[in-house]
Amino acid sequence: MKINANYFNLKDNYLFATIAQKVRDFSAANPNKTLIRLGIGDVTLPLAPSVVSAIKSATDEMADKNTFKGYGPDGGYEFLREAIKNYYKSTKNVNIEMSEIFVSDGAKSDVGNVVDIFSRDVTALIPDPVYPVYLDTNIMDGRKIEFIDGNESNNFLPMPTENTKADIIYLCSPNNPSGASYSREQLKIWVDFAIANNAVILYDAAYEFFITDKNLPTSIFEIEGAKKCAIEFCSLSKTAGFTGTRCGYTVVPHELMLDNTSLNKLWSRRQSTKFNQVSYIIQKGAAAVFTEQGLIETRENVAYYLENARLISETLKDLEVWHTGGDNSPYIWLKCPNGQSSWEYFDYLLNEINVVGTPGAGFGKMGEGFFRLSAFGSREGVIEAMKRLKNLHR
Ligand code: PLP
Repeated sequence: MKINANYFNLKDNYLFATIAQKVRDFSAANPNKTLIRLGIGDVTLPLAPSVVSAIKSATDEMADKNTFKGYGPDGGYEFLREAIKNYYKSTKNVNIEMSEIFVSDGAKSDVGNVVDIFSRDVTALIPDPVYPVYLDTNIMDGRKIEFIDGNESNNFLPMPTENTKADIIYLCSPNNPSGASYSREQLKIWVDFAIANNAVILYDAAYEFFITDKNLPTSIFEIEGAKKCAIEFCSLSKTAGFTGTRCGYTVVPHELMLDNTSLNKLWSRRQSTKFNQVSYIIQKGAAAVFTEQGLIETRENVAYYLENARLISETLKDLEVWHTGGDNSPYIWLKCPNGQSSWEYFDYLLNEINVVGTPGAGFGKMGEGFFRLSAFGSREGVIEAMKRLKNLHR
């Protein structure tokens, strides 16, 4: 018997555990100080009323012998896939078929599991800094990994060069942690690169709902040619506060072929073998997000976070602190002032103004010297934190 020894190559992810420990130590030593948490990547506002009402009535259906549901259909219920299809058409002018949509319990599972359908003998290209799941799931498979660096000069939106080698390409836009979003022109370059290199783009659009700038694409499928080379991952977690409720979806176009094989068919086979769908009750709640009223309520919550983000970004502009994000994204990614390292700046903010953020170094080596602030907290917290930050840096 042998275990998968690739797991030994994973680095322990101490980021959030270390933050939690530092915060506990600080609070124990300073019981009278009020901490403001701008480190969280989790939502804080409740589910929209339409969603709650749909979940309640679906629960009632489950309590009645005549409307009770057992296992749901592979890929998700038609009512939800249809709602997603219509959402793509009406908000992005993108035509997708219901059979191209796969409902899931969130983007983390799909982004993590999708590597099952690729050979372990190919190269994954991963932006740095980025959501750590892409890296860890490829390490688990023992795949060759190349990084593409985000930095100040490319505004944390790395682009391919003639030396770039990749079979699987991860793109995350708006990006976690940098909050930066690719333009249409930039995505077109990536799509052309993928087609020319017979590569697949895994496009993580978990934060697409935060894009308000009409010039920015909210789906890779807005780009010509993308259906031939991309899979898109979406989530209701940040869109509609589903982090604890769990629902997302992945779009695998029929046009996407590799080795004369449809990736839609492979993914369908993978999912029907290893995944038994999201509960009827939650799929009903998810479908309510895409109703006219659901979208209005959901946009209200997102507007609240975006206003928090704007307030943070405005303060940083005022203080002349270099940053990305803050518009079209719930994250603000700033360069630590005075050349401090990510963890030095973390300690500095914690001790001096009792504000908790996330050290950029936790998202990759290119994150060193940078820091992530999140807009998912309360308005009062953000206003107070920005007041303290202004006093500190002035
Ligand atoms: N993708 C990115 C870029 C994320 O930041 C997150 C969560 O923070 C996820 C995916 C996971 O989303 P879900 O809650 O749908 O699993």
